[in-house]
Amino acid sequence: MHKTPDLHSHSTASDGTLTPEALVLRAAAAGVTTLALTDHDTVAGLDEARRAAERADITLIPGVEVSVTWGGRTVHIVGLDVDPDCPELLRGLDGLQQYRVWRAEEIAQRLSKAGFDGALEGAKSHAKGTLIGRTHFARFLVERGAAADLRSVFKHYLVSGKPGHVAGEWTTLDQAVGWIRAAGGHAVIAHPARYKFTRTKMRRLLAEHRECGGIGVEVVSGSHSRDDYFTFARHAAENGLYASAGSDYHGPENPWIELGRLPALPEGCRAIWTRPGFGRFSARAAA
Ligand code: AMP
Ligand code: MN
Ligand code: MN
Ligand code: MN
Repeated sequence: MHKTPDLHSHSTASDGTLTPEALVLRAAAAGVTTLALTDHDTVAGLDEARRAAERADITLIPGVEVSVTWGGRTVHIVGLDVDPDCPELLRGLDGLQQYRVWRAEEIAQRLSKAGFDGALEGAKSHAKGTLIGRTHFARFLVERGAAADLRSVFKHYLVSGKPGHVAGEWTTLDQAVGWIRAAGGHAVIAHPARYKFTRTKMRRLLAEHRECGGIGVEVVSGSHSRDDYFTFARHAAENGLYASAGSDYHGPENPWIELGRLPALPEGCRAIWTRPGFGRFSARAAA
């Protein structure tokens, strides 16, 4: 039987702590046979990941996790098997990266008022690529002793109602799915249970996603419980969506999520990796 592919992971190109190469090698060592690198709003890590996959015993699916504002909240859309050179995708991601630069300055100003000077430089020192995100601020704040770990630093400083929070103004669902499709990819709603939407609102998201041309939803996710697997397997079936699986791995610092440990999809799911044409932009070592 085939091992469940891991179709959601991060590298230093966004807010992961392993370089694309180290990530690919670690996944291969953990027995992952198919890995998607899906950094936030960037494809900058894909070249290095592809080269590493060509030397290791693993298939690399080029991907991206696009930040979207939907229903007044941030929703993440994973694009799988995208052409990383697609101009429409690159233009779209570029806009999000520019917004991130502006937001980082805003976050730093707010943290300065809360007594943390040098937050922009501090966050940048944790960003190993060009992309900047809240996780980099969180690492800076932990370093400054603001809280013991990332989770509590987010809770006390970086979420709605807290001193360093800036409400996200990302792209629309329609645009994100459009860029992914322009790049030949498959658009998947990331970690749906994380949004804590009501049943009605979740149904609306799934329906709109489909109307926009989205075709999948993460059923198995590093941030889902066993119950969530079954809930979203049902949602997928009801909406005619493919099911995806991904750890959302960000690095070895988080002991709760490890590569190569994903369970199989619940029975009855249509796995996205069985969709015709899936894998056409993938890389792996020649046999
Ligand atoms: P951003 O896209 O820059 O707003 O940052 C979102 C990222 O922050 C997510 O992808 C997670 O990696 C991280 N994150 C969000 N909430 C938390 C949390 N409560 N604990 C740890 N990391 C979090
Ligand atoms: Mn992240
Ligand atoms: Mn996400
Ligand atoms: Mn992610």
